[in-house]
Amino acid sequence: MLSKKFDLEEVIAKRNQKVCGFIDLAQKVDSSMVRLPYMIVCGAEEGPVFLADCCVHGDEYEGAEAISKLYHEIDPAKLKGTFIGVPAVNLEAFNAGCRIAPIDWSYQDMNRAFPGNPSGMITSRVAYFYFENFVKKADFNISFHGGGNGLYLEPLATHMGQDSEVGKITYRMARATGMKVQWQIKNIPFAGGLPTEAEKAGIPCTVIELGGQGVRVDHRDEMIEISVNAMKNVMIEFDMLDGEIERVPEAELTDVEITYIHTDEGGYHKMRVKPMDFVKEGTICSDIVDIFGNKVSEVRAPFDCYIVGFWSYSTIHPGNWAFLFGKPL
Ligand SMILES: [Zn+2]
Repeated sequence: MLSKKFDLEEVIAKRNQKVCGFIDLAQKVDSSMVRLPYMIVCGAEEGPVFLADCCVHGDEYEGAEAISKLYHEIDPAKLKGTFIGVPAVNLEAFNAGCRIAPIDWSYQDMNRAFPGNPSGMITSRVAYFYFENFVKKADFNISFHGGGNGLYLEPLATHMGQDSEVGKITYRMARATGMKVQWQIKNIPFAGGLPTEAEKAGIPCTVIELGGQGVRVDHRDEMIEISVNAMKNVMIEFDMLDGEIERVPEAELTDVEITYIHTDEGGYHKMRVKPMDFVKEGTICSDIVDIFGNKVSEVRAPFDCYIVGFWSYSTIHPGNWAFLFGKPL
Protein backbone atom coordinates (compact mmCIF):
# COMPACT_ATOMS: atom_id res chain seq x y z
CA MET A 1 0.00 0.00 0.00
CA LEU A 2 2.83 2.38 -0.78
CA SER A 3 1.96 5.98 -1.57
CA LYS A 4 1.31 6.73 -5.21
CA LYS A 5 0.27 10.27 -4.40
CA PHE A 6 3.70 11.86 -4.53
CA ASP A 7 4.79 13.08 -7.94
CA LEU A 8 8.33 14.41 -7.91
CA GLU A 9 8.06 15.85 -11.41
CA GLU A 10 5.07 17.91 -10.34
CA VAL A 11 6.98 19.30 -7.34
CA ILE A 12 10.11 20.17 -9.28
CA ALA A 13 8.20 21.73 -12.20
CA LYS A 14 7.66 24.85 -10.06
CA ARG A 15 10.79 27.00 -10.20
CA ASN A 16 12.32 29.20 -7.50
CA GLN A 17 11.01 27.58 -4.32
CA LYS A 18 11.99 25.40 -1.36
CA VAL A 19 9.74 22.62 -0.11
CA CYS A 20 10.20 19.98 2.54
CA GLY A 21 7.99 17.33 4.04
CA PHE A 22 7.28 13.64 4.36
CA ILE A 23 5.77 11.08 2.03
CA ASP A 24 3.58 8.51 3.77
CA LEU A 25 4.49 5.01 2.65
CA ALA A 26 2.70 2.54 4.91
CA GLN A 27 0.77 2.44 8.14
CA LYS A 28 2.45 0.95 11.21
CA VAL A 29 0.99 -1.02 14.11
CA ASP A 30 0.21 2.13 16.09
CA SER A 31 -1.37 3.82 13.02
CA SER A 32 1.56 6.20 12.59
CA MET A 33 3.25 6.06 9.18
CA VAL A 34 6.45 4.74 7.69
CA ARG A 35 7.61 7.91 5.96
CA LEU A 36 10.20 9.31 3.61
CA PRO A 37 11.49 12.83 4.35
CA TYR A 38 12.52 15.16 1.54
CA MET A 39 13.93 18.68 1.13
CA ILE A 40 13.79 20.13 -2.36
CA VAL A 41 15.25 23.37 -3.71
CA CYS A 42 13.94 24.25 -7.16
CA GLY A 43 16.33 26.71 -8.75
CA ALA A 44 15.07 29.79 -10.57
CA GLU A 45 16.57 28.42 -13.79
CA GLU A 46 16.10 25.02 -15.42
CA GLY A 47 18.95 22.53 -15.08
CA PRO A 48 19.90 19.06 -13.85
CA VAL A 49 18.31 17.19 -10.97
CA PHE A 50 20.87 16.41 -8.26
CA LEU A 51 19.82 13.92 -5.60
CA ALA A 52 21.66 13.57 -2.27
CA ASP A 53 20.59 10.95 0.22
CA CYS A 54 21.70 9.56 3.54
CA CYS A 55 20.78 7.00 6.19
CA VAL A 56 20.13 4.05 3.93
CA HIS A 57 21.91 2.76 7.03
CA GLY A 58 20.13 4.49 9.89
CA ASP A 59 23.13 5.17 12.16
CA GLU A 60 25.25 7.04 9.58
CA TYR A 61 24.11 10.58 10.36
CA GLU A 62 26.82 12.94 9.10
CA GLY A 63 25.46 13.27 5.56
CA ALA A 64 21.92 13.71 6.87
CA GLU A 65 22.91 16.74 8.92
CA ALA A 66 24.84 18.07 5.93
CA ILE A 67 21.80 17.74 3.65
CA SER A 68 19.64 19.83 5.98
CA LYS A 69 22.44 22.41 6.36
CA LEU A 70 22.82 22.73 2.60
CA TYR A 71 19.04 22.90 2.09
CA HIS A 72 18.97 26.04 4.27
CA GLU A 73 22.08 27.52 2.63
CA ILE A 74 21.10 27.25 -1.03
CA ASP A 75 19.53 30.34 -2.55
CA PRO A 76 17.05 29.15 -5.22
CA ALA A 77 17.71 32.35 -7.20
CA LYS A 78 21.32 31.20 -7.66
CA LEU A 79 20.59 27.55 -8.47
CA LYS A 80 20.24 26.12 -11.97
CA GLY A 81 18.20 22.94 -11.73
CA THR A 82 16.99 21.10 -8.65
CA PHE A 83 18.58 19.94 -5.41
CA ILE A 84 16.76 17.04 -3.77
CA GLY A 85 17.89 16.01 -0.32
CA VAL A 86 16.60 12.84 1.33
CA PRO A 87 18.27 12.86 4.76
CA ALA A 88 16.98 9.47 5.90
CA VAL A 89 15.94 6.97 3.23
CA ASN A 90 15.63 4.37 5.98
CA LEU A 91 13.78 6.55 8.49
CA GLU A 92 12.77 3.62 10.70
CA ALA A 93 16.46 2.75 11.16
CA PHE A 94 17.33 6.45 11.61
CA ASN A 95 14.79 6.73 14.44
CA ALA A 96 16.12 3.62 16.12
CA GLY A 97 19.79 4.64 15.79
CA CYS A 98 20.47 1.35 14.03
CA ARG A 99 21.94 0.24 10.73
CA ILE A 100 18.71 -1.59 9.91
CA ALA A 101 15.01 -1.01 10.58
CA PRO A 102 13.89 -2.97 13.66
CA ILE A 103 10.30 -3.29 12.39
CA ASP A 104 11.31 -5.87 9.77
CA TRP A 105 10.73 -9.42 10.94
CA SER A 106 14.20 -10.50 9.78
CA TYR A 107 17.45 -8.58 9.24
CA GLN A 108 17.16 -6.48 6.06
CA ASP A 109 20.13 -4.38 4.99
CA MET A 110 18.72 -1.65 2.73
CA ASN A 111 22.02 -1.27 0.91
CA ARG A 112 21.69 -4.88 -0.23
CA ALA A 113 18.00 -4.46 -1.15
CA PHE A 114 18.10 -2.14 -4.19
CA PRO A 115 16.38 -1.77 -6.63
CA GLY A 116 13.84 -2.92 -4.05
CA ASN A 117 10.75 -5.07 -4.09
CA PRO A 118 7.22 -3.63 -3.94
CA SER A 119 5.89 -6.83 -2.37
CA GLY A 120 8.77 -7.59 0.03
CA MET A 121 9.43 -6.55 3.60
CA ILE A 122 9.13 -2.88 4.46
CA THR A 123 12.84 -2.14 3.92
CA SER A 124 12.62 -3.54 0.38
CA ARG A 125 9.38 -1.66 -0.23
CA VAL A 126 10.89 1.66 0.86
CA ALA A 127 13.97 0.93 -1.28
CA TYR A 128 11.68 0.23 -4.25
CA PHE A 129 9.66 3.42 -3.76
CA TYR A 130 12.81 5.50 -3.36
CA PHE A 131 14.53 3.95 -6.37
CA GLU A 132 11.52 4.35 -8.67
CA ASN A 133 10.41 7.80 -7.57
CA PHE A 134 13.70 9.54 -6.75
CA VAL A 135 16.83 7.78 -8.01
CA LYS A 136 15.49 7.06 -11.50
CA LYS A 137 14.38 10.69 -11.86
CA ALA A 138 17.75 12.17 -10.92
CA ASP A 139 20.58 13.10 -13.28
CA PHE A 140 23.12 12.20 -10.62
CA ASN A 141 23.16 11.03 -7.02
CA ILE A 142 25.41 11.26 -3.97
CA SER A 143 24.56 8.61 -1.40
CA PHE A 144 26.14 9.30 2.00
CA HIS A 145 27.29 6.45 4.22
CA GLY A 146 29.77 6.26 7.06
CA GLY A 147 31.12 4.33 9.97
CA GLY A 148 27.88 4.44 11.92
CA ASN A 149 27.94 3.05 15.44
CA GLY A 150 30.67 0.47 14.89
CA LEU A 151 33.28 1.60 12.38
CA TYR A 152 35.79 4.31 11.68
CA LEU A 153 35.98 5.18 7.99
CA GLU A 154 38.39 7.55 6.31
CA PRO A 155 36.45 10.10 4.20
CA LEU A 156 36.23 8.72 0.66
CA ALA A 157 34.20 8.74 -2.55
CA THR A 158 33.39 5.74 -4.73
CA HIS A 159 33.19 5.18 -8.47
CA MET A 160 32.79 2.12 -10.70
CA GLY A 161 35.68 2.75 -13.04
CA GLN A 162 35.44 4.51 -16.38
CA ASP A 163 34.36 1.63 -18.64
CA SER A 164 30.96 3.15 -19.49
CA GLU A 165 29.57 6.62 -20.16
CA VAL A 166 27.73 6.61 -16.84
CA GLY A 167 30.91 5.37 -15.14
CA LYS A 168 32.82 8.33 -16.56
CA ILE A 169 30.31 10.77 -15.07
CA THR A 170 30.45 9.00 -11.69
CA TYR A 171 34.24 9.24 -11.81
CA ARG A 172 33.97 12.98 -12.52
CA MET A 173 31.64 13.34 -9.53
CA ALA A 174 33.93 11.37 -7.22
CA ARG A 175 36.91 13.48 -8.29
CA ALA A 176 34.92 16.71 -7.76
CA THR A 177 33.80 15.82 -4.21
CA GLY A 178 37.15 16.76 -2.68
CA MET A 179 37.63 13.34 -1.09
CA LYS A 180 41.29 12.34 -0.99
CA VAL A 181 40.56 8.62 -0.96
CA GLN A 182 38.82 7.26 -4.06
CA TRP A 183 37.40 3.74 -3.90
CA GLN A 184 36.81 1.87 -7.13
CA ILE A 185 33.87 -0.44 -6.29
CA LYS A 186 33.68 -2.33 -9.60
CA ASN A 187 34.35 -5.64 -7.78
CA ILE A 188 32.41 -4.97 -4.57
CA PRO A 189 31.49 -8.37 -3.08
CA PHE A 190 27.73 -7.88 -2.61
CA ALA A 191 24.66 -7.16 -4.73
CA GLY A 192 21.82 -4.72 -4.20
CA GLY A 193 23.89 -1.65 -3.30
CA LEU A 194 22.46 1.69 -4.42
CA PRO A 195 25.48 2.83 -6.48
CA THR A 196 25.70 -0.40 -8.47
CA GLU A 197 21.95 -0.60 -9.09
CA ALA A 198 21.73 3.12 -9.93
CA GLU A 199 24.54 2.74 -12.45
CA LYS A 200 22.73 -0.22 -14.06
CA ALA A 201 19.71 2.07 -14.42
CA GLY A 202 21.95 4.70 -16.06
CA ILE A 203 22.15 7.06 -13.06
CA PRO A 204 25.66 8.07 -11.94
CA CYS A 205 25.94 7.56 -8.18
CA THR A 206 28.92 8.13 -5.93
CA VAL A 207 28.90 6.98 -2.32
CA ILE A 208 30.64 9.20 0.19
CA GLU A 209 31.75 7.37 3.30
CA LEU A 210 32.79 9.38 6.33
CA GLY A 211 32.49 9.79 10.05
CA GLY A 212 31.17 7.24 12.46
CA GLN A 213 32.10 5.83 15.81
CA GLY A 214 35.25 7.38 17.24
CA VAL A 215 35.13 10.70 15.35
CA ARG A 216 31.73 12.03 16.35
CA VAL A 217 32.79 13.93 19.44
CA ASP A 218 35.69 15.95 18.06
CA HIS A 219 35.03 15.94 14.32
CA ARG A 220 31.26 16.00 13.86
CA ASP A 221 31.09 19.57 12.46
CA GLU A 222 34.13 18.92 10.28
CA MET A 223 32.47 15.82 8.76
CA ILE A 224 29.29 17.80 8.10
CA GLU A 225 31.30 20.58 6.45
CA ILE A 226 33.19 18.10 4.24
CA SER A 227 29.82 16.64 3.20
CA VAL A 228 28.28 20.04 2.42
CA ASN A 229 31.32 20.99 0.33
CA ALA A 230 31.19 17.68 -1.55
CA MET A 231 27.59 18.35 -2.61
CA LYS A 232 28.34 21.96 -3.54
CA ASN A 233 31.41 20.89 -5.54
CA VAL A 234 29.38 18.38 -7.54
CA MET A 235 26.77 21.04 -8.28
CA ILE A 236 29.53 23.43 -9.40
CA GLU A 237 31.07 20.68 -11.55
CA PHE A 238 27.76 20.23 -13.39
CA ASP A 239 27.06 23.99 -13.70
CA MET A 240 24.21 24.12 -11.19
CA LEU A 241 26.01 26.62 -8.96
CA ASP A 242 28.63 29.26 -9.70
CA GLY A 243 31.94 28.94 -7.91
CA GLU A 244 35.33 27.32 -7.90
CA ILE A 245 36.02 23.77 -6.82
CA GLU A 246 39.04 23.37 -4.56
CA ARG A 247 40.32 20.24 -6.27
CA VAL A 248 42.59 17.74 -4.57
CA PRO A 249 45.79 17.63 -6.68
CA GLU A 250 46.07 14.24 -8.44
CA ALA A 251 49.33 13.55 -6.55
CA GLU A 252 47.47 13.78 -3.22
CA LEU A 253 44.71 11.33 -4.23
CA THR A 254 44.79 7.73 -3.05
CA ASP A 255 43.03 5.34 -5.45
CA VAL A 256 42.15 2.02 -3.87
CA GLU A 257 40.10 -1.11 -4.15
CA ILE A 258 38.85 -2.17 -0.72
CA THR A 259 38.72 -5.67 0.74
CA TYR A 260 36.62 -6.36 3.83
CA ILE A 261 38.37 -8.62 6.34
CA HIS A 262 36.28 -10.45 8.93
CA THR A 263 37.34 -11.65 12.38
CA ASP A 264 37.66 -15.33 13.26
CA GLU A 265 37.01 -14.91 16.99
CA GLY A 266 35.16 -12.30 19.03
CA GLY A 267 36.45 -10.25 21.95
CA TYR A 268 37.95 -6.84 22.61
CA HIS A 269 39.25 -5.35 19.34
CA LYS A 270 42.64 -3.78 20.13
CA MET A 271 44.07 -1.71 17.31
CA ARG A 272 47.79 -1.63 16.47
CA VAL A 273 47.48 0.74 13.48
CA LYS A 274 46.08 4.17 12.70
CA PRO A 275 43.82 5.43 9.88
CA MET A 276 45.62 5.62 6.51
CA ASP A 277 48.76 3.86 7.77
CA PHE A 278 50.31 1.94 4.89
CA VAL A 279 51.14 -1.56 6.10
CA LYS A 280 53.00 -4.49 4.54
CA GLU A 281 51.41 -7.89 3.91
CA GLY A 282 51.34 -9.92 7.13
CA THR A 283 51.42 -6.95 9.50
CA ILE A 284 49.38 -7.59 12.65
CA CYS A 285 46.81 -4.79 12.57
CA SER A 286 44.79 -5.69 15.65
CA ASP A 287 44.58 -8.18 18.48
CA ILE A 288 41.42 -9.89 19.70
CA VAL A 289 41.45 -10.29 23.47
CA ASP A 290 38.94 -12.34 25.46
CA ILE A 291 37.00 -11.29 28.55
CA PHE A 292 39.78 -12.68 30.80
CA GLY A 293 42.40 -10.52 29.09
CA ASN A 294 44.00 -13.27 27.00
CA LYS A 295 44.84 -12.78 23.33
CA VAL A 296 42.73 -15.24 21.29
CA SER A 297 43.25 -14.05 17.74
CA GLU A 298 44.69 -11.32 15.55
CA VAL A 299 43.98 -9.68 12.23
CA ARG A 300 46.78 -9.45 9.67
CA ALA A 301 47.01 -7.40 6.49
CA PRO A 302 46.40 -9.80 3.56
CA PHE A 303 48.47 -7.64 1.20
CA ASP A 304 50.30 -4.29 1.19
CA CYS A 305 47.52 -1.80 1.91
CA TYR A 306 46.15 1.36 3.50
CA ILE A 307 44.04 1.20 6.68
CA VAL A 308 40.93 2.84 5.21
CA GLY A 309 38.46 1.65 7.83
CA PHE A 310 38.26 -0.52 10.93
CA TRP A 311 35.89 -1.71 13.63
CA SER A 312 36.32 0.99 16.28
CA TYR A 313 33.77 -0.16 18.85
CA SER A 314 35.52 -1.76 21.85
CA THR A 315 34.26 -5.30 21.27
CA ILE A 316 33.75 -7.25 18.07
CA HIS A 317 31.75 -10.39 17.29
CA PRO A 318 33.24 -13.35 15.39
CA GLY A 319 32.72 -12.93 11.66
CA ASN A 320 32.25 -9.15 11.79
CA TRP A 321 34.13 -6.69 9.63
CA ALA A 322 37.42 -5.92 11.37
CA PHE A 323 39.06 -3.90 8.59
CA LEU A 324 38.52 -2.26 5.25
CA PHE A 325 41.94 -2.65 3.66
CA GLY A 326 42.62 -0.42 0.66
CA LYS A 327 44.84 -1.93 -2.01
CA PRO A 328 46.46 0.86 -4.05
CA LEU A 329 45.41 0.90 -7.71
ZN1 LIG B 1 26.31 2.52 5.20
